[in-house]
Amino acid sequence: MRVVVTGGAGFLGSHLCDRLLADGHQVVAVDNLITGRTVNIAHNLDREGFTYLRRDVSEYLEIEGDVDFIMHFASPASPVDFERVPIQILKVGALGTHNALGLAKAKGAGFFLASTSEVYGDPLVNPQPESYWGNVNPIGIRGVYDEAKRFAEALTMAYHRKHGVDTRIVRIFNTYGPRMRPADGRVAPSFITKALRGEPLTIFGEGRQTRSFCYCEDLVEGIVRLMHSGEHDPVNIGNENEITILELARTVIRLCDSDSEVVFRPLPQDDPQLRRPDTTRAREILDWEAGISLEEGMKKTIAYFKTHGAES
Ligand code: NAD
Ligand code: UDP
Repeated sequence: MRVVVTGGAGFLGSHLCDRLLADGHQVVAVDNLITGRTVNIAHNLDREGFTYLRRDVSEYLEIEGDVDFIMHFASPASPVDFERVPIQILKVGALGTHNALGLAKAKGAGFFLASTSEVYGDPLVNPQPESYWGNVNPIGIRGVYDEAKRFAEALTMAYHRKHGVDTRIVRIFNTYGPRMRPADGRVAPSFITKALRGEPLTIFGEGRQTRSFCYCEDLVEGIVRLMHSGEHDPVNIGNENEITILELARTVIRLCDSDSEVVFRPLPQDDPQLRRPDTTRAREILDWEAGISLEEGMKKTIAYFKTHGAES
């Protein structure tokens, strides 16, 4: 297949490009580098079957030649970016998704949306099944991301129902791994870079909020299985192992063999208190479940930051 990956120079997009190339597909990575880095795709730039286009997908998107699938991964995803680039986030979720769906329709291609557990907001049920409609503050700081992704899901289903586009929606839960930027702001790179430098880890609130961390390789396997399935309704992909942020801090400090302390800072607005995926559908439909433990995935990620830590 010839597959377009929007956000292809980002953390997840670049891992997806690697996997698609390894599976024998041609890949066109499209990225405007707002949060991505060409270093993530440098190893593929001269590779046959790989093309990189620097484009903003919120503008009209033109791709020459046949396209079989569009994997729409473009969007800033760190809470730090929700305040830094809120309008770009709303635009890429709305206009970018519209352009990518329009391209899929014009090319007769499949379309795959990278959605998020943030569609559940600060959830009132735990774990979160796909049938849960969520608890989102539309006008809060996180609303730009949550509502953009909720709109993107609605638009994807509309293109499927109205135009018959062959669509997929994955709801990704917190995923970490090599190629996250040290200054990304999300908790895994934030804790790892601080622990490696011996600086205090900043815990927002009391650190009792929970997340369930999935290693990127597990996630990409789930995504590829979903791409090849005929499933149009959203599917959660994530690791079901739920831990508190304080536990995460202690784990990172131990695995980095660091003597960093932890310091407490105010909890940001609407920070979800609990998050854990119900992955029953992924198991039933895709025969998928996360296999890489936090300890194993963190060791690989820490090794990456030890060698690439200086690259911003
Ligand atoms: P990332 O910031 O590393 O990657 C996003 C990429 O999209 C970057 O390369 C960025 O430059 C690019 N991009 C953003 N806006 C663009 C635009 N208008 N035009 C072209 N390119 C643009 O983040 P990530 O963690 O790799 O996230 C990838 C996707 O997965 C996002 O859609 C995100 O919402 C989704 N997601 C990620 C997680 C996670 O835990 N990593 C969780 C839920 C959802
Ligand atoms: N967090 C923290 N310290 C940091 C970064 C994040 O305590 O330096 C907390 C944050 O408040 C949230 C959790 O870690 O409760 C996960 O944050 P992240 O930014 O990774 O993503 P989120 O899951 O909130 O989208």
